Amino acid sequence: MGDRTFATGRRGFLAGAAALAAAPSVRAEVAAPAAPLAQDAGAFDVCVVGGSCTGVFAAVRAAAAGMRVALVERNYFFGGTATAGFVPVWHSLFSLDGSRRIVGGYTQQVIERLAAKGLATLHDAKNGRSESVHCFFNPAALQDELDWMVQASGVRTFFGASFVAAEVDRPGHVARVVVEDKSGRRAIAAKFFIDCSGDGDLVARAGFETWKPPRERLQAHTLCALVTGVERLRKQHPKFSFDELMKPSSGAKLNHVFQWWAPVPGCPEATMLAATRVSACDPTDADDLTHGMFEARAQLGRIVAAANRVFPTDGPGLQVAAVAPELGLRESRHLCGLYRVTGEDVLSGREYPDVIAKGTYRVDIHEGKGIKFRYLDGREWEMVQDLATGDIKVRNGRWRPEDPNPECYQVPYRSIVPKGSENVLAAGRMLDADREAYGALRVMVNCNQMGEAAGAAAAKAVKERLAAPDAYPGFVSAPT
Ligand SMILES: Cc1cc2nc3c(=O)[nH]c(=O)nc-3n(C[C@H](O)[C@H](O)[C@H](O)COP(=O)(O)OP(=O)(O)OC[C@H]3O[C@@H](n4cnc5c(N)ncnc54)[C@H](O)[C@@H]3O)c2cc1C
Repeated sequence: MGDRTFATGRRGFLAGAAALAAAPSVRAEVAAPAAPLAQDAGAFDVCVVGGSCTGVFAAVRAAAAGMRVALVERNYFFGGTATAGFVPVWHSLFSLDGSRRIVGGYTQQVIERLAAKGLATLHDAKNGRSESVHCFFNPAALQDELDWMVQASGVRTFFGASFVAAEVDRPGHVARVVVEDKSGRRAIAAKFFIDCSGDGDLVARAGFETWKPPRERLQAHTLCALVTGVERLRKQHPKFSFDELMKPSSGAKLNHVFQWWAPVPGCPEATMLAATRVSACDPTDADDLTHGMFEARAQLGRIVAAANRVFPTDGPGLQVAAVAPELGLRESRHLCGLYRVTGEDVLSGREYPDVIAKGTYRVDIHEGKGIKFRYLDGREWEMVQDLATGDIKVRNGRWRPEDPNPECYQVPYRSIVPKGSENVLAAGRMLDADREAYGALRVMVNCNQMGEAAGAAAAKAVKERLAAPDAYPGFVSAPT
């Protein structure tokens, strides 16, 4: 196995790197792993950590290019926030004016297959005034679809496997990742690694530089649920609305008033409700997550109880059919990439020679006091909640004067390459983007494309023996 360092943080990585540089022919001083040495779980060309759509698309792309691929997912299903968090919306695949398709790839293929089964509903191509929803989908159907994609492509799946450590054999180069699953502590060797964990777990534990906003500046998180009985409530109480339930007068005792809901294609009885909000919760802190989950479930309980108290019905009222297994996380760690995308880049539609994703979803920042949207066409919308009255104050304006609008924005490959990386990429919401750019780029349509690009780049790097920064694969999600 040679000389290797189990790095669980920057210090371990640096210590290992320094030891190797000082005495390359002598066995390096190895930081003792916290648990017994890992069993060998096989060798692959590419290993992807995290099986959201981002991770699945990365793995399948790499497999399609002939790679032997391992995919590590801590749950027993794929989809990440879309399935574990019940978030059932993908945004527009079209240019801002709706005239041209700008995104194809696996995102388009999945939407078309789900729509053909009646398990996704398609909406206007235009990224309109307040809506840019391209499709609502059924999260269970997405799970099935991702199972099929992964199995059909021959990717080796490690379900129920949490990534816990990275083994770094020289600066910027990961040799193996260590996972914990029912079989114990196992090591997966690969030539190239892609971190799709959302939280940048691999990037951070391999010792690459990362950053995150202070707790209070992190975007707020939301626990979603599937509820039933909404139609009955509406029929018996024409004044019923979720907005009413969020007001202090409902007695739900919330510190926020914003909520949104969505239909669940194929299940007309069910509504996906996103009405909880947990602020100042750092998803890289296990205690914050535990507290956040308790807090969000308690909020959900109070909202449902308020609904049935304020709007009683002669049958079952609002009922929770399922609570998402995971808190929906809007933001955590970011990598320090070769480039940090800025709000100005996004809102001006800056073009890059190394484009990997295109999108039009607005800048959307969920912060303590409310929500702010900035659109590519110059409009701005801000919602500020009055916690005393429950009223929502909306301000419509412009962040720039009337101007020709960009067709879309772009994401550069450089923003998913960790600084100093030889064989690691990080796709998804941990990309390097400032607060404003991140507000737009974090949505799934964009993450999906980053995943596809990372998979193609990993395959290119392995085949052509390139380092991560030199493996730009082209815009692989372009419509065909
Ligand atoms: C309430 C809410 C509403 C949203 N609304 C929308 C919307 O309408 N449309 C939209 O497009 N986006 C929306 N977003 C944003 C979007 O859902 C996320 O930004 C996006 O899904 C992030 O994708 P990701 O692949 O980077 O990470 P994630 O979806 O978080 O996936 C990470 C994956 O890695 C796995 N994982 C994590 N750590 C480990 C580990 N150590 N070992 C093994 N596996 C691991 C997880 O289980 C998961 O499968 C919303 C987010 C929230 C929270």
